[in-house]
Amino acid sequence: MAKLITGIHHVTAIAADSQHNVDFYTGILGLRLVKKTVNFDAPDVYHFYYGDENGSPGSILTFFPYAGLVRGRHGKGMLNTTTFSVPSNSIGYWEERFKKFNVNYKPAEDRFHAETVIYFEDPDGLGLELVFNDKDARAGFSYGQIPPEHAIKGFYNVEIWEEGYERTAGLLSGQLDHVLIAERGNRFRFAATDAPGNYVDILCTPDSLRGLGGSGTVHHIAFATPDKESQTAVQQKLLSISLNPTPILDRNYFTSIYFREPGGVLFEVATSGPGFAIDETPDHLGELLKLPPQYEARRSRLETELPPVSLHIDQYK
Ligand code: ZN
Repeated sequence: MAKLITGIHHVTAIAADSQHNVDFYTGILGLRLVKKTVNFDAPDVYHFYYGDENGSPGSILTFFPYAGLVRGRHGKGMLNTTTFSVPSNSIGYWEERFKKFNVNYKPAEDRFHAETVIYFEDPDGLGLELVFNDKDARAGFSYGQIPPEHAIKGFYNVEIWEEGYERTAGLLSGQLDHVLIAERGNRFRFAATDAPGNYVDILCTPDSLRGLGGSGTVHHIAFATPDKESQTAVQQKLLSISLNPTPILDRNYFTSIYFREPGGVLFEVATSGPGFAIDETPDHLGELLKLPPQYEARRSRLETELPPVSLHIDQYK
């Protein structure tokens, strides 16, 4: 039987300043701003989507920027690190780039005796990593300021901290089609599809403080499902274990259900389509403020009240 969940769809985080967020992700990291829209549940806040050229599932990091919001705290019950995939020979390039643009990063570390990892943070303190590896066949993207051979290819994995890992592991393997593919120390790696972009690491961290929401923290992670039929099937499976998912919500670029996993992290299951080319052409993704039909009547007010943002790629060569 085909899998109901195929991997990671996107990660959504919280930022403080809109322009700093755009500059960091498009300028320094070279991700493509594939959609500039608003939070469909609170349209006076932007929703930025960054990803590869098309905003493929497994590459999409999104943000709600709230001006002046206080910082949150990493901790258990939270997705604390989102990890990007880059080629193994890019370590020197990225260390130089981080120095040049004053990005704080930690020395390279080994993971699973198979991967080299560098941890760094965005301007709000969001936990990020680069994983240097040779197993990722996806094409990288940048606006041209990063050589193609060093460009980010999408996510590699995410890292979720939990008080204990068993109940979350049970949900991933029981209802969400993941299997345990590696473990070492307190790190347990799951995947629905064994390929970069889809690895979900559960870290057992009972001694850490509980995470607190705020800027620099993740709001939720979305898993990919092929279509509405498979999404409905996942919803039924979750109902059968009393996890109480939401009804299917129309997010314009996909449809979604949300539920909280036993450790406290907000999970979403999003359809792989229709994707970001539904309301602007592939070569112009992210250029204009796109609104869902229910907010078009508010466009002129939103365009006045939302802070203007623009790309400054030339400053990040
Ligand atoms: Zn989402």
